[in-house]
Amino acid sequence: MTRKFFVGGNWKCNGTVEEVKKICCMLNTGEVPCPNHIDTIVAPPFVFIPLVKSLLRSDFQIAAQNCWVKGGAFTGEISAEMLVNIHIPWVILGHSERRTLCGESNEFVADKTEYALSQGLKVCLCVGESLKERENHETSNVVAKQTKAVADKIGCWANIVIAYEPIWAIGTGKVATPEQAQEVHYNLRKWLDQNVSPQVAQNTRIIYGGSVTAANCKEIGSQPDVDGFLVGGASLKEEFITILNARN
Ligand code: PGA
Repeated sequence: MTRKFFVGGNWKCNGTVEEVKKICCMLNTGEVPCPNHIDTIVAPPFVFIPLVKSLLRSDFQIAAQNCWVKGGAFTGEISAEMLVNIHIPWVILGHSERRTLCGESNEFVADKTEYALSQGLKVCLCVGESLKERENHETSNVVAKQTKAVADKIGCWANIVIAYEPIWAIGTGKVATPEQAQEVHYNLRKWLDQNVSPQVAQNTRIIYGGSVTAANCKEIGSQPDVDGFLVGGASLKEEFITILNARN
């Protein structure tokens, strides 16, 4: 079974209407692999989603960068149902910036994942360790714990992509080596094999995120357990097109 390559662009809290239009134009004119070979996802800030949706070619899929669970009295939040209502197929959940800055626990991320899936969204679930955890040789445990919280709550993995994003590599320019990424992806797949099922382990895409650029994407992307990327800073630039072509 070959897992389809997956590249997500996480725009984070960046952009103006003018900049969004420029990025969409850059993406629309870029040469990207045929959608049979790649899932290409862009995740703009909530307020720009309708604009991006109206401008982008249909082979780019749109993701939200987060969502709440069920709608209601949650000032400032966006529910999973709202994303479904405006036909947004994907949501990123558990990004380390939200875990760290907004105090999202493993359990809360798992609740949101379960709810988003139940509403028909596809989820890009982020996991990853801090520098201290890596130095203490806790990486595999941390990643397994974050994944277990979700595994305890869901039955079907068909609509999940796991993004391994070491916190120390995000936005720092300090990318994991291809060997470091491969090791964590391999261990995570092994964890899925032993704790969920061999089939889920075989089929679930595990992508890498953290300072991915045009210069390092080919080498990381050629590792056997790396099925694509979640890209932050470089997804706002022309080099995102090169990253989409990392397997070519
Ligand atoms: P970066 O961010 O590529 O800017 O390091 C990755 C991410 O946070 O998804």
